[in-house]
Amino acid sequence: MSEQHDVLIIGGGTAGITAAAQLLQQEAAPKITIVDPSQTHDYQPIWTLVGGGVFPREVSRRAMAEVMPRGVSWIRDRVTAFNPEKNEVQTEGGKQLVYNELIVAPGIQLNWDAVKGLPDAINKGGVCSNYGYDKVAYTWETIQAFQGGNAVFTFPATPIKCAGAPQKIMYLAEETFRRRGIREQANVTYASATASIFGIPKYAQALDKIIEERDIQTQFSKNLVEVRPDTREAVFRDVNGAEELVLEYDMMHVTPPQSAPDFVRKSPLADGAGWVDVDKHTLQHNRYRNVFSLGDASSLPCSKTGAAIRKQAPALVENVVAFRASKPLLGHYDGYASCPLVTGYGKVILAEFGYDGVIMETFPFDQAQERYSMYALKAYGLPNLYWHGMLQGRM
Ligand code: FAD
Repeated sequence: MSEQHDVLIIGGGTAGITAAAQLLQQEAAPKITIVDPSQTHDYQPIWTLVGGGVFPREVSRRAMAEVMPRGVSWIRDRVTAFNPEKNEVQTEGGKQLVYNELIVAPGIQLNWDAVKGLPDAINKGGVCSNYGYDKVAYTWETIQAFQGGNAVFTFPATPIKCAGAPQKIMYLAEETFRRRGIREQANVTYASATASIFGIPKYAQALDKIIEERDIQTQFSKNLVEVRPDTREAVFRDVNGAEELVLEYDMMHVTPPQSAPDFVRKSPLADGAGWVDVDKHTLQHNRYRNVFSLGDASSLPCSKTGAAIRKQAPALVENVVAFRASKPLLGHYDGYASCPLVTGYGKVILAEFGYDGVIMETFPFDQAQERYSMYALKAYGLPNLYWHGMLQGRM
């Protein structure tokens, strides 16, 4: 069955809903259809604080029907393939959707099975993760149940969404251990495939100091390749060679390897690494001119965050509108992303930067310092701005 659509958006997550809401506000707004099989929409950034016991996971979730902008048609189906030569996508439900313009925003794929033993180990036996609504509650359970020993926090050898998240939860856990009087009995280790604590030197310096003050051990260039729940061992391989490191754990927070979704990776829209191949400033596809992409599934060489999408969406919308009117694409995305680095309860370093690590701070003070005001922004301000501003096309 073939259906004709005007602007078709794949994915009703942060990127898809924000782009749709902004498009609807344009003069001569196009007809918009969003394809997404999910009945729910999650505000994932708050999972750091859910894992740290500040909020219940329910605060992160709304019904998809509630966040769908009025006037958008929603097809509850999963896209399985793209045929950009024919301006067509296929769905699991057997539909062929034909479009004038396509916006691809299905997010990033979590590859739990890329680590041997992880699919069976996760969510029990002290192996937890903030990466998933179905998992995040167990993180806080695990931190509370920890009685001392080795607490390990991992970061994989792939791009991930929110590169700060794997360490934010570590700072919350470490503070909890201190508050509970068991810090002396705990070894806290950050075992990461990255070469340093954070990619932007200004914030890395501040984080290195915190790590030292809190007596956190680091293992850099170490990629988690296997979990052995029976012996409570985590096996890491050095990213620069074959050298192996085995750490015993009493609790472990795992950030899973991630990639472009398989149906994107295998499609003609993908670049060599699997992401939707778009121009890093205009967000237009490099080969198929009526295709655009934003968010985690795109090839944009920025930090994969909701904050980045906030700045991508206006550029993309301006360019989709211009493209439809056969005008030059003047919308320009500069790579802006932000990462509220939660370094404790009531403490945040607000990292803000653009392409090539250019610092792009909002506030007139040194944002590399831990501040309560930035924590309040993260915990209370940004969630409100998300639900009532960004998803309504207001910012
Ligand atoms: P998503 O929001 O993940 O949405 C993708 C949508 O596509 C989903 O609704 C899905 O159902 C749909 N979809 C998938 N496959 C298909 C298909 N085949 N067909 C149709 N639809 C499909 N960002 C920040 O800015 N600040 C933070 O502090 C922060 N912290 C984070 C902490 C954690 C623990 C996590 C997990 C994320 C965090 N993020 C943070 C990242 C942020 O949540 C993501 O970058 C953002 O949600 C990406 O938006 P997206 O629309 O690209 O993908």
